[in-house]
Amino acid sequence: MSLNHYFTNPIVMLAYYFWNRISKTDRLGILRALDKSQYYDIERLRSIQLKKMRNVIKNAFHSSPFWQEKFKDIGLEEGDIEGLVSTDKIPKLTREDVINNKDRIVSGAFSKDELTENVSGGTTGSSLSYYLSRHRIDYRSASTLRHNLWTSYRIGDRLATVWGAPADMESHRSLRTKMRDIFWGASINFDSNIVTDDAVRKFAREWDRFRPEILLAYSGAVDFFVNHARDMKLSFAPPRAIITSAEVLTPGARKNIEDFFEAEVFNRYGCREFSVIASECRYHNGLHINAETLLLEFEPVLEALDNRRHCRVLVTDLENLAFPFIRYELGDVVVLSDEEDRCPCGRNLPRIEEVGGRIMDYLKLPGGRYLSCTALTATCFPRARGIIQSRIVQKKIDKIIVQIVKNNDFDEESYNILKQDLAKVLGEGIELVFEFPEQIKRERSGKYRFVISEVAD
Ligand SMILES: [Zn+2]
Repeated sequence: MSLNHYFTNPIVMLAYYFWNRISKTDRLGILRALDKSQYYDIERLRSIQLKKMRNVIKNAFHSSPFWQEKFKDIGLEEGDIEGLVSTDKIPKLTREDVINNKDRIVSGAFSKDELTENVSGGTTGSSLSYYLSRHRIDYRSASTLRHNLWTSYRIGDRLATVWGAPADMESHRSLRTKMRDIFWGASINFDSNIVTDDAVRKFAREWDRFRPEILLAYSGAVDFFVNHARDMKLSFAPPRAIITSAEVLTPGARKNIEDFFEAEVFNRYGCREFSVIASECRYHNGLHINAETLLLEFEPVLEALDNRRHCRVLVTDLENLAFPFIRYELGDVVVLSDEEDRCPCGRNLPRIEEVGGRIMDYLKLPGGRYLSCTALTATCFPRARGIIQSRIVQKKIDKIIVQIVKNNDFDEESYNILKQDLAKVLGEGIELVFEFPEQIKRERSGKYRFVISEVAD
C-alpha cells in the first residue's frame, strides 16, 4: 500500500514522517507491516502468533520472577517452550495478580527508566498499573491507526470525541500533544460526564465551525448525547465515520447514532491494557481481532440464554516483553460466530461476532443461566415509549431493580409493556422493582453500564 493511503495530504505525510524520525519511533514501519499482514493467509497468521507467543514465554521464563515461580509450579522447563502450541497449561493471570505483583512481573531484562508506567482504572474502583516498553507503545499506536484506516480515517483528519475519561480530555493533554495535533488531526472534545443543555449547544457550535470528519465516542455516551441533542432540535453536519468503543453498543444505539449523524458506525473493542483488541471493517461482519499483537483465548460462559457462544476472554500480549501479560483475564465476555466464513474485505484476521461486555454486565439467573445486556435491550426496551435512559441492577439472584429516566411519553401502557417483556425474558420467580430517578450517574471511569449485577459470579 502506498504511503499516500494513510494521510490526508503530502504535508501531513512529511510532518508525520519527520516526527517519526525525530522521536525515533517506528510507528510508520509497524503500520506498514500490519497493513500487509492482515491479508496473510490464516496459517501464516497463526504461525506468527505461535512464534511470538513462545518468545513471550521464553522471555518471561528468563526474566520475570513472578512467571518463573508459576512455570516452576507447573513443571515447565526451558526445553518445553519451543514445542508449545497453546498456552492452556499456563496459569491465568488475574487483575489481583497484577495489582499485588507488579514489580515481580516486570521483566528484569528492561531497566525501569526505559519503560512507561500506565494505569487502568477499571470498574471495580481499584486501579491497576503496569509497564509498557517503548516498542509496545509504538505498536499500540500503529495498531490503532491500522484499525482506524478501516473506517476511511486518514492521518490528518479533523476529529471530534464524545468521551468520558478525563485523562484523555483536551485540558489534560500535554503541549507536545497539542503541537502534534496541529499537524495531523486536531480535535474538538465533548466531556460526556457533564451533559447539560449549555454544553451540548456549545459543542454544536464548535462542530459547525470545525466540521469534524471522524467522530470517536463512548458507545453509550454518544447514544445518550444523541437523545439529548435531538430533544434540543440540534443537528450536526455528518462526519465521514463514527468509531464507537469502551461501552457495549446495542443494535438500538447503533441505529439511533447512525440516523442522527447520518454516518456509519464502526464498533471497536479495546481496553487500556492492550489498546485496540478488535474492530469492525466496512462490512460490519463482526470485529476483526488485532491478531498479530494479541493472542485471544475463549472460555465458554456456562449457559447463555440465547444459545449463542458467549465466552470470557483471556489475552496474551505478544508485543510487550517488558511486562508479560500471559492469559490475562480481562473480565469481558464476547460472542463468537459459528460461521468461519471469510469476510468480503479479504482480511484473514479472525473475528468475534459481538462484544458482550463485562462479566459483571451479565445477569446471572436461577439455574446457572446468563443473560447478556444486549439480549435484554434488543428484546425488552424497543417496544416501550418514553424511556430516555435505563439501567438494570441485579441485587440478588431473584431481585432486579429497573431504573428508568422517563419523559412525558412514558405512560401506563409503556410501563405494562416493559414489565411484561422483562418478565418473559427473565422467566418465573424474579422480583422486579421499578425506580424513576431524574438521572442515572455514570461510573467513576466515565463509562455508563446498562446492566450491573451485584451477584457474585
Ligand atoms: Zn472484514
